[in-house]
Order: sequence, then C-alpha cells, then structure tokens
Amino acid sequence: MTLYLYNTAHRKKEEFVPMVPGKVGMYVCGPTVYDFAHIGNARPVVVFDVLARLLRHLGYDLTYVRNITDVEDKIIEAAARNGESIEALTTRTTEAYHEDMAALNALPPDLEPRATQHIDGMIRMIAKLIEKGHAYEAEGHVLFDVTSMADYGKLSGRNREEMIEGARVEVAPYKKDPADFVLWKPSTSDMPGWDSPFGRGRPGWHIECSVMSEATLGVTFDIHGGGRDLIFPHHENEVAQSCCAHDGAPFARYWVHNGFLMVNGKKMSKSLGNFRTVQDVLMDATGEAVRLCMLKTHYRKPLNWTDYGLDQASTEISKLYVILKDFDQVDKGPLKPNPDVVRALCNDLDTHAAFLKIQDLGKQLRHETNKAEQSRIKGQLIASGQLMGLLEQTWQDYFQKRDTLRLYENAWEVRISDEEFTIKPIPEPSIQNLIEQRNKAKAEKNYPKADEIRDQLKSHGILLEDGPGGTTWKRA
Ligand code: AMP
Ligand code: ZN
Repeated sequence: MTLYLYNTAHRKKEEFVPMVPGKVGMYVCGPTVYDFAHIGNARPVVVFDVLARLLRHLGYDLTYVRNITDVEDKIIEAAARNGESIEALTTRTTEAYHEDMAALNALPPDLEPRATQHIDGMIRMIAKLIEKGHAYEAEGHVLFDVTSMADYGKLSGRNREEMIEGARVEVAPYKKDPADFVLWKPSTSDMPGWDSPFGRGRPGWHIECSVMSEATLGVTFDIHGGGRDLIFPHHENEVAQSCCAHDGAPFARYWVHNGFLMVNGKKMSKSLGNFRTVQDVLMDATGEAVRLCMLKTHYRKPLNWTDYGLDQASTEISKLYVILKDFDQVDKGPLKPNPDVVRALCNDLDTHAAFLKIQDLGKQLRHETNKAEQSRIKGQLIASGQLMGLLEQTWQDYFQKRDTLRLYENAWEVRISDEEFTIKPIPEPSIQNLIEQRNKAKAEKNYPKADEIRDQLKSHGILLEDGPGGTTWKRA
C-alpha cells in the first residue's frame, strides 16, 4: 500500500518514496533532559511511534533515531537551581523520560544518540562551515552567517523580518546580521565546556541535530520529524548547517511536523505553566487511554486536552477490552490488521479514521455468531490496535491497572452498559483517594464539596467517621 505524508518542505501531501528501496531512515528531535516531560512533549513521541510501526508493517527496514539533548542552557540553569550535578540531572530525567514514553506504549528508537557523545563531530562541522565561508567567529562565539545561504528561510517559508522576529531572543552586538544564529558559545569554568579551535565552549542546540542525524543516518535521509514549533528556527537552522557543510547536498527529504497539544486554546508549555506531566496524567488514566486520546485527533491538527476527552478515550479503550474479555474463549485468527485501518494510516497517518474502523471491528465481533468469523475478526481487531500501539496487553492486565488509578472513582461503576461491566465494589485506593480529596476540601473550607464526597462514598456503601486521629471508613 502506498504511504502518503504531508511534507512541510513542499506544503503538500506526497507519496512517500524512500531514498533506498526498502530502507527508511527517520530522525525525530528528542527531549532536552532537564525536567519531567509534559503531555505536549509526548505527542510527537506517540505520533512518530505510530509512523515507525506503520513503516515496519509496510515492510520497510527502518532505522528510527531520536536524540537526547543533554547539553543546553536550560540544563545548566536547572542543575544550578536544584543544587544537582548536570550528570545527575540528565541521567535522572532521561530515565524518567524512558519510563514515561514506555508507559504510553511508545517503542524505544533504534538509536538514541546523546549530544555529549558527538561534540567532536560538532566541532568538525563548525570548522567546515567556517572554512566554507558560512560561519564566523566573534567574541568567543561562532555564528552561522545566514546571508551566505540563498535558500535560508525556505523550509519555514518565513521572510527576513519574520526570521529576525523569531531570532529576537538571540540579538547580540557581535552578530553581523540579526538573524545569524549560534553554532558554538563560550563556557565559563563552572559550565560544561569542551576545548575547540574556537576556544573552550559548548555547542548551540541546532548543530547538535545536524551532527547526530548525519552520524546515524548519513548526509541525506528520508524523514525528519518533530513538533511544529521546531520548524523555525530549529529545523530551518539544521537545514542551513547541514546543506552548507555538505556543499548543498540534500538533508531530510520529508519533513513531518505534529500540531500542538493545547490547553484552553494555548499551547501546552513549561513557560506558560499550563502543563501536566505525563506522570501526573498517568495517575488518572492508563497509558493506553492517554495514547488513544492523542491519536483520536489527526497529528497535524491542534489537540485540545481536556479531562472529558481523556475520559472518553478511557471509556473507548475499556470497551474494546470488555469485548476481548467477552470473547476470551475464541482463538484469535491471524494477526493481520484490517486493510481499512492500514489504508487510513497510509493517508498521512489518519489515526482518527483508523480508530473508527477499529471500533467498528469491535462492534462486528460483538455481533458475530460464526466461530470462524469471530476468530478472524478478533485477530484483525488486535493486530489493527497494535499497529497504533493499542490492545497490546491482556484484558486482565488492563483492568487491573485501570482500577488502581487515582481519580478513577467510577471504575467500579457501570460505565459502559450493564451487559458489558459487572459491578464491583469500590476499590480501596479509590476510597482513600476520595477521603484525601475530602480532607483537602475541608481544609479549604469547601464544605459543600466535602459533603458531596461523603455522599458519593455513601452511595457506594462506604461510611466515614471523623475522629481525632483522622477519618476512618467502613463498609455499611
Ligand atoms: P522540547 O523539550 O521543548 O524541545 O520539546 C520536545 C518535543 O516536544 C519537540 O518535538 C516539541 O516540538 C514537542 N512539543 C513541545 N510542546 C508541545 C505541545 N504543546 N504540543 C505538541 N508538541 C510539543
Ligand atoms: Zn533537533
């Protein structure tokens, strides 16, 4: 089946034809490891994980590279703020990142280069750029000379004024042109730094990806991805560095960018403070529900994150596991994804349409009476889900995990329909959680809320007793 991808470089959907038949190289900009990832940061990971799964399903021999930016000013600042060494901070946050992404069923990339392992390559590329007249030294810095490249701005389609606007934060007196960007900057003795022909210093962020992509995938490779905020300046600057260092040889052939995850109409970001970490959200929903919530919206569209949307996704994924539970006795047929699901994904990763088809398969299975057909559909359902990183666990594991969630007060209730769920007593973690919420409401003098929680528990046969040692509970 032919894969079509929207290529930011040409602003249109294009047939994907790899450079070398049967082989694909894909580079996705990874995290700067200074803090926990928020769910906005997880969106590209989930999106490109689906693309990786699809490419492999289509038979391509894929090399998927996602870097770790472990040298950057935000890291230096965060380490100083935490009173922690840079090494300890980057190790701790990289491990947390791996755990968070695994919880969202994102498979690890094939290669995960770290910027600090490629400093020599960065120094070499910078030296080459100076030699070829594309970069210059100034006050301990090395800057890329944007006027030396006729096509600068082509990827993002920005004109000069817009580029200068975008680069405003980096305005500095030693720049020849306000749009020039940093390749190397000086480090004081207390900062991470490496000796180089341009003095002791550290690389700029953009050069890191130019060098790590070349080291892992070569000068020209197939797909480069990331969130759309990276188009300018990060990806524009990667193109400039790589093309100029290699005498105009093409860099990435397909540029794929995901839209933003939003909160109340604003991009979720650390700087706006409107973020929720992956770890926090995972206390309210399973990783699979979070993943589905992301994939129900097409990757290029903005995705407004709401509790309601997450709840919907939780219900939808639960429904599918209920069906698998009900058809537990049926052997699953060949694990072949449904062609409509593959077709939808091949249409610029239309995960929305693909999931509608998966739901449809669930319905078909529910109403099918012929055993052989049940088997076939069950195999298709599971394989189709797995192509999107869903339905990878047993229904037992899924429900066990789901019922321990923090805010899943209703997990024991009939959430889908009477025939699909058996009523279970409210689990203890949920009781404790509600008691904590009630204590918090009382501390905030929000008595109506505290009473509401007491009544809610009562409706589940749980009676509360407030005593000097705190609140205890018993089943009525
Ligand atoms: P950062 O660590 O900020 O460089 O971001 C890592 C990745 O997350 C990049 O690909 C960003 O484009 C992406 N990203 C950051 N915030 C969001 C958001 N709110 N929605 C979607 N992607 C985002
Ligand atoms: Zn990058």
